[in-house]
Amino acid sequence: MPSPGVAVRGLAVRLDGTPILRGVDLCAPAGSWLGVIGPNGAGKSTLLRAVAGLLRFDGEVRVGGVAPAALSPRQRARRLAYAPQVPVMPPDMAVFDYVLLGRTPYIGYLARESRADRMAATAILDRLDLRPLQQRRLESLSGGERQRVVLARALAQEAPVLLLDEPTTSLDLGHQQQVLELVDQLRRADRLTVVTTLHDLSLAGQYADELLLLAGGRAVAAGEPVAVLTEELLAAHYGARVSVTTDGAGRPVVQLVRPGRSDRGEVGGNVGRQRPS
Ligand code: ADP
Ligand code: MG
Repeated sequence: MPSPGVAVRGLAVRLDGTPILRGVDLCAPAGSWLGVIGPNGAGKSTLLRAVAGLLRFDGEVRVGGVAPAALSPRQRARRLAYAPQVPVMPPDMAVFDYVLLGRTPYIGYLARESRADRMAATAILDRLDLRPLQQRRLESLSGGERQRVVLARALAQEAPVLLLDEPTTSLDLGHQQQVLELVDQLRRADRLTVVTTLHDLSLAGQYADELLLLAGGRAVAAGEPVAVLTEELLAAHYGARVSVTTDGAGRPVVQLVRPGRSDRGEVGGNVGRQRPS
């Protein structure tokens, strides 16, 4: 089996004639976690879709040493699992059956899923607290439940490369941690290569080995989280005033800083004056 990492060189994507990505390079070695960050509309989702072989592009994309676009959907699904930011789901399908679709690349033509496929689906439902929902129709799920179900389907695929587009956006704090820890455990146990877009920069800094910062369809910075999550780069590309500190493990933590805090005393003073004396 060739190296299951992800490598992209000179990637350019046009959508309906508009250039969306230009000259993007990235490298996620086998077993590593690459976080793709960048402001809204930077091209993060487009990058993931191109890597997943779902878009036409110029340049070179290699997943496990091969070009995903050249593979059949079935071959591709054995090499990479992709969880989209906005999934299209059949409203009437039950959660369990949807997650079982992740096993399709292993089920022979005209064959039914095996006991092992059903066990794999059940195991992943368990790990994401979704067993109580397994008979529910997809249409009846909340946003966060739906997001975990999409992730469960991608993980049930047991592919060596995971492409996750904003996997934590609609999740509460506990489930954000659960999902990212699970992905990290699977990555370490099975040496998966993980590429995620993450709009929460502190989470990106906590989990990714390396970050790629996209802005306006170009890669404007790449490297270890401490090198990419700097106050200067985030001010320049997000137009945001932030403060970056490091946690006990040396990982960067990004916080928004509210402009004009010098009038804090003034606000306190007003509150004080409103107090009955
Ligand atoms: P991100 O995930 O970083 O927020 P996307 O990859 O979803 O950004 O989109 C990148 C840019 O491409 C956005 O400005 C979006 O409006 C634009 N875009 C997406 N689809 C099309 C399209 N079919 N035609 C033109 N522009 C598009
Ligand atoms: Mg996106």
